[in-house]
Amino acid sequence: MLKEALIEKLDYEELSNCMRCGFCQPACPTFRETGYEAASPRGRIALMKAVADGVMQPDQDFVDQMNLCLGCRACEPVCPAGVPYGQLIEQTREAIEEVQEHPTWVKAVRKVAFTHLFPRQDRMYRLGSMLRFYQRSGIQKAVRKLGVLRILPKQMGEMEAIMPEASGRGIREFLGATVIPAVGERKRRVGMFHGCIMDVLFSETNLNTVRLLTEAGCEVVIAQGQVCCGALHAHSGEREEARNLARKNIEAFTKAGVDVIVSNAGGCGAMLQEYNHLLENDPQWHESAKWFSSRVKDISELLVELVEPDAWAGLPESKRVTYQSSCHLRNGMKVTKEPVNLLQSIPNATYVPLREGDRCCGSAGIYNLVQPEMAGNLLDEKMGHVAATQADILVTSNPGCLLQMKAGIKRAGLEGQMEAVHIVDLLAGARRKNGTSSDLQA
Ligand code: SF4
Ligand code: SF4
Repeated sequence: MLKEALIEKLDYEELSNCMRCGFCQPACPTFRETGYEAASPRGRIALMKAVADGVMQPDQDFVDQMNLCLGCRACEPVCPAGVPYGQLIEQTREAIEEVQEHPTWVKAVRKVAFTHLFPRQDRMYRLGSMLRFYQRSGIQKAVRKLGVLRILPKQMGEMEAIMPEASGRGIREFLGATVIPAVGERKRRVGMFHGCIMDVLFSETNLNTVRLLTEAGCEVVIAQGQVCCGALHAHSGEREEARNLARKNIEAFTKAGVDVIVSNAGGCGAMLQEYNHLLENDPQWHESAKWFSSRVKDISELLVELVEPDAWAGLPESKRVTYQSSCHLRNGMKVTKEPVNLLQSIPNATYVPLREGDRCCGSAGIYNLVQPEMAGNLLDEKMGHVAATQADILVTSNPGCLLQMKAGIKRAGLEGQMEAVHIVDLLAGARRKNGTSSDLQA
């Protein structure tokens, strides 16, 4: 029964900390779109508490409101009581998942994705090889020409159209090494979290991450045995599998003996920082989870710390750049100023602030696929603000946001005028001044 599962999973003390002030309402995209109390953080917390207090039976409307939440956590930084809403919604989704009866095909897709694919990086690389073959063999061109993609849901077709070139090899295979020395004096020994999707669809960004880190004085360790961070699992109610992945990552990075664990994806970094909460009821792993989480940083934090602002050589030509921040980087990792500081230090880049750049773009993991209407509305709103900046480059710091921004540029007819770029790739194009460049090649 869902009610019992919710009572067992929900942190009642945190639920009770909500004082119903409503400060979170204006920050919530689903409340802004619908105007419904039940589609707001305060409303969802009230629903959770009503179930936990035994005054309400959770029905399909309850489940729908929980599923409509983006999990963007924009409600957290504005909450005066410090309610950890992200944890509450994940606990709720875990309970829902435990009792929900999916149709057979949904069960099969979830099983393949969450158990057999994302946790197995070797299989992710094999998928990358197949995608690469599809993209390079002419099949993709034929499929597009014949209009086969029209049978897919609109959002999936849009994603296929902006899919970057896949790779069947990860960063470790590209470099042929697991430890890459610092350029010049070693300042830190850094463990690089390469991600599951990042290492297949954004392998060039991962390579640029190593270049930037080594040039900043970091010895980079690509810890062996690391796996997917578990964010997609946790956000989809598969917390037990997320815990299994967390244990593997903790083991891999502990063995690597690093000072810092660096991520170049806001969604992954925020999840890695949550391992201490995820494993708080596991006495065997909790201490090492705390060690692990306390060492996780976003690459922008490390670059601001280690690179003098006047050390960047600059972009080859003058460009206007704007920044759409990743929700989990901003609201989860609390990294807000560093990416902007970096963009402002690049010669030849004119930083233009994006109105409501702190609002979710609608990507939110697989939200744009499972809640296409709300995601589409949020994206259209976002692209209106993006177009107003008249920027040449739209910078993001998470792979899901990057794909969503590429889709948005296409959808808004801005192709040819603007490109979406990961901050790491932009910085790699503004390489450091003489004497500090790494000569790493794939
Ligand atoms: S996580 Fe985002 S969508 Fe969900 S309640 Fe909070 S602000 Fe609203
Ligand atoms: S801001 Fe915090 S305390 Fe106030 S209603 Fe929202 S969740 Fe509750």
